[in-house]
Amino acid sequence: MDTVWTELCRRIGERLGESVAPRGTSRLAGGCIHNAARLETSAGTFFVKRNTAHCLEQFEAEAESLDIIADTATIRVPRPVLAAETGGEAFLVLEFIEFGSGGGDARRMGRELAELHALPQTDFGWTRDNFIGPTPQPNPPADDWPAFFREHRLRWMFGLLAKQGVRFRHGDALLDRLDRFFDDEPPQPSILHGDLWGGNAGYTADGTPVVFDPAAYRGHDEADLAMTELFGGFPSAFYEGYHAVRPKRPGYRRRRELYNLYHILNHALLFGGGYAGQAQSTIDRLARG
Ligand code: ADP
Repeated sequence: MDTVWTELCRRIGERLGESVAPRGTSRLAGGCIHNAARLETSAGTFFVKRNTAHCLEQFEAEAESLDIIADTATIRVPRPVLAAETGGEAFLVLEFIEFGSGGGDARRMGRELAELHALPQTDFGWTRDNFIGPTPQPNPPADDWPAFFREHRLRWMFGLLAKQGVRFRHGDALLDRLDRFFDDEPPQPSILHGDLWGGNAGYTADGTPVVFDPAAYRGHDEADLAMTELFGGFPSAFYEGYHAVRPKRPGYRRRRELYNLYHILNHALLFGGGYAGQAQSTIDRLARG
């Protein structure tokens, strides 16, 4: 067995307070960013993400988000065990979830996400800055949601894209007029998953919903809901379950496109091409509307 796994098991053992010996590993497919593996040990099975040492901060941020969401006992997430650097590489070790091959209880997934969103929070932001995919995501504490979303989500992405020489027409006009998207009741802070597309949600073999790979922060609940609609993958039962707990608000349809602009800009940053065009036409529509 590769010495790095032996060393990782030693670190897992330190965390768990028992001796942990490696029994075997297998590569898993499906991760967008990191290498994923299944690690069998004398203390059970773990899910491991592995990447170069500079990813340690991403893994620490993900572990903290998972812990905070797990502590809410609302929607299931994998429990983190350890984020560590070993042998010059970074590792994130999580509880292994046995995903089923069929579907699951989408209504329950919607309801449990709504229960997470329903927990009262005192401000926007998060315990730390984190990452949306590999992109840094600032999360300073804030009382004013429109200002938070304007400065730390859209203006931040515009700035990162400008450094790559990508600029958008009417971007500033949109930012200057953002308040008019919030002329009904003021948004309240909720704990968000933050990166809730269909690829970050699944079901165990018995149908229990699980979400994973969060970019969590305290924000407007509609931002999570909007992202579920951006790349699809969530059936109508999910929304029925969600809205049975948290009814839809009147301005959601207008804000949905605004919230998803953040993710489209991030895709433009990461993948360029068509996403920059999609971002520009979204900005044109939003700035006009
Ligand atoms: P990345 O950060 O590289 O995008 P993900 O967190 O999305 O990686 O995980 C990659 C894949 O591994 C997921 O699509 C899922 O199928 C699987 N997976 C994620 N977390 C676990 C877990 N705790 N247990 C088992 N499989 C998992």
